[in-house]
Amino acid sequence: MRRGAASGAAASPEPECYRRGVPAPRRYVTDAIVLSRFDLGEADRVLTLITPEHGKLKAIAKGIRRPASRLGGSLEPFAELNVALARGRTFDVVTEVRVGHAWLRLRDSLESAATAWYLAELADRSLEERHAAEPLYALLHRAYELLDAGMAPGRVARWYEMHLADELGQRPEADRCVECDRMLEASESFRWVPPLGGVLCSRCPGPGADRAGLSLEALKLLKAYQRLDIEAIAALRLPDEVEREVEAAMRDFMRIALERDPRSLAFLDEVRAHPPHPGLAARPVAGDPAADRAAAVPPA
Ligand SMILES: [Zn+2]
Repeated sequence: MRRGAASGAAASPEPECYRRGVPAPRRYVTDAIVLSRFDLGEADRVLTLITPEHGKLKAIAKGIRRPASRLGGSLEPFAELNVALARGRTFDVVTEVRVGHAWLRLRDSLESAATAWYLAELADRSLEERHAAEPLYALLHRAYELLDAGMAPGRVARWYEMHLADELGQRPEADRCVECDRMLEASESFRWVPPLGGVLCSRCPGPGADRAGLSLEALKLLKAYQRLDIEAIAALRLPDEVEREVEAAMRDFMRIALERDPRSLAFLDEVRAHPPHPGLAARPVAGDPAADRAAAVPPA
């Protein structure tokens, strides 16, 4: 340890070129949501947090897995926390935690909890560390509020995916053909081509015939997710097959946008394929082994 915690005058100072303006304070307090976590050593845990001003960052909670830990049960996902951190060499160190919003009802359904993991993973994959992330923080915050309020998890997820793509500057094109820029007409047929950024018209050849068509109803729903406010989206009455078509379309789109398959989708699909016994659904998911496994996936 070349640079210890003590800030003695003899300790090698930061080179001048690294000091831009006011030096960053050693301790800071921020709102944060846990995106993922993994255990380290005997009793520590490393958390990936999203914060409004400091963006995504990794922090270590020392000794948190000991029964007597002061940090204990409050450093959980699916909650807005107020966290005090001390800057560290590799990870910042969590020194205090308060729970702002617990969003407890989000955990009542395994599907909404699994969806919450998925949304967190998308945020994690979308962010670089230490870049301010107010819009994404606000988006995740709102999505968790909606899940907590009991909105259908699929609708929350689609709304979130659409707005996340928007924030990443990759809003899917659903009004004009991505190739010829012609306004799409209700009477024609469409193809959904995420590598090109959206919908392809019937006249353009596009990238081969491997792309399945997109129904007019699905196209309308994609536009609804772009344009309607969340209350209007919650009130839509939709056939299951249209919701499923849009789900597949948006998953495909996010996979291309983020250049990978979110790992939490396997868990979400498992939960939906095998809904748990109602008595089990009330179990807090943070303690669920499968959820913990999903949580332990280290960010690449
Ligand atoms: Zn076209």
